[in-house]
Amino acid sequence: MTLAHFMCRHCGAWHEYFASPPTCFVCSDVRNALPPEGFVFDRESDLRERVKQGEITTSWRYVEDDIVVFTNAPSLGIGSSGYVILRPEGNVGFEATAWYTDEALAFLDSIGGLTSLSSSHPHGMGALWQLQRRFDPEVVMHRDAVRFTKAFDVDFTFDDTLSLAGGISLHHIGGHYEGHAVLHDRRRRALFCGDAIKFEWDNEGLMMGLSCHKAFHKRIPLSHGEVRRYLDVIGALDFAQVFSTFEHGPGVTTADVVRFYTDLLSRPRTTSSTVRFAEPRRS
Ligand SMILES: [Zn+2]
Ligand SMILES: [Zn+2]
Repeated sequence: MTLAHFMCRHCGAWHEYFASPPTCFVCSDVRNALPPEGFVFDRESDLRERVKQGEITTSWRYVEDDIVVFTNAPSLGIGSSGYVILRPEGNVGFEATAWYTDEALAFLDSIGGLTSLSSSHPHGMGALWQLQRRFDPEVVMHRDAVRFTKAFDVDFTFDDTLSLAGGISLHHIGGHYEGHAVLHDRRRRALFCGDAIKFEWDNEGLMMGLSCHKAFHKRIPLSHGEVRRYLDVIGALDFAQVFSTFEHGPGVTTADVVRFYTDLLSRPRTTSSTVRFAEPRRS
């Protein structure tokens, strides 16, 4: 039997298995919805065929001079974004989109490939295995997130925090997921928060506030202890913009996030956006 990679069509999570996996570990978890029509898995060759037919593209854009975001159109599964932070000391990848076309990988090659690679939690892992196969970066995960990494190989793990080169560090926050970690880019004053913060937009694309959750679909709030840990860890990091698993939140500062988590701690537990920005942030 030959091992191959399979993508759950419902959520976009990748699995390494002998044949179509019996279940998806992400969809089967309470923090995701089950696929109403049952599980369907696509092979790598299926994705390549869909790209050839023009059904899937991978695009990329610079958000800063040294931060590139990769996305799929149409979005696959839950639609995670992949981020690459360019540094003279070696590029760092955090999260991955669900599929990288050959063109996207060639572009990444042209800007120096990847030296280090990590992810906040399973909802952001996307096709991280493709990046590992192409660039052979050092893959580092929080020790409690290793159980979710069957589709790729972890080179080493960390406990509470880990400094990488280029002013970049990883910090364990837990809460939403076991082993959930955030990445802080000190030079660019950017926080890559995974699902520790969700942006709330209005119909005109203005960011009106923030929310967070233990389980989004089931609307299960975090416990106060979990929010307190978010506040302690994230509140100690200096940032002026945030990248979630899915999107960029420009102008979201440490003070905004501290105010949000502090407010959450003063209320009955909720997954609703409680703190509204006095001035909405434009995307
Ligand atoms: Zn799934
Ligand atoms: Zn998540």
